[in-house]
Amino acid sequence: MCVPILACPRCSREWQITGDGWVRCSSCGYEADSYTGAIEYIRIHKGLKSLDGIDAKSKPQIYSCPACGALALLERAETDLHANFQFLCFSCGGFWAANELARCPECMEWKPGEEFEELIICRSAVGFYVCRACYEKIFK
Ligand SMILES: [Zn+2]
Ligand SMILES: [Zn+2]
Ligand SMILES: [Zn+2]
Repeated sequence: MCVPILACPRCSREWQITGDGWVRCSSCGYEADSYTGAIEYIRIHKGLKSLDGIDAKSKPQIYSCPACGALALLERAETDLHANFQFLCFSCGGFWAANELARCPECMEWKPGEEFEELIICRSAVGFYVCRACYEKIFK
C-alpha cells in the first residue's frame, strides 16, 4: 500500500505528505506544516469553513505519531470513505489499520499493539496494559 493521498483544501487535487513535515499540493502550490495539515483534514471532513471551529487544545484530536514522534497523527474521519487507513501521520506519512494501534490508558497516546506491557498492580491478580514507555517510567 502506498501513502494515502489527501485532497488539497484549496483545489481538491492531490495533497501529498512529503515525509519531511509538510503537506504540499503540486497543482495550486498550497502547503502546510504537518500539524496544520492534520487540522485542515479534520476541518474539511467536519465541513467547517475555518479552523476556528476546531479547538485542538481542549479537545485533542491530533496525537503523537508512534513512528516519528511528531504531533501529527490523527484518526480517519468517519466521512472519509475513500481512506485506506485508520490512523495517518501527516509528518512521516506512516499509516495504520484500526487493529494495529491501541491507546495507552496512561499517556493516552496511540502505540503499536506489540509495544504494550502488562502492568500488575501489587497483589492484584488483574493487570492492565500500558505502553512500554509508561511501563518503564512506572518501574524506574
Ligand atoms: Zn491545491
Ligand atoms: Zn509520523
Ligand atoms: Zn503510555
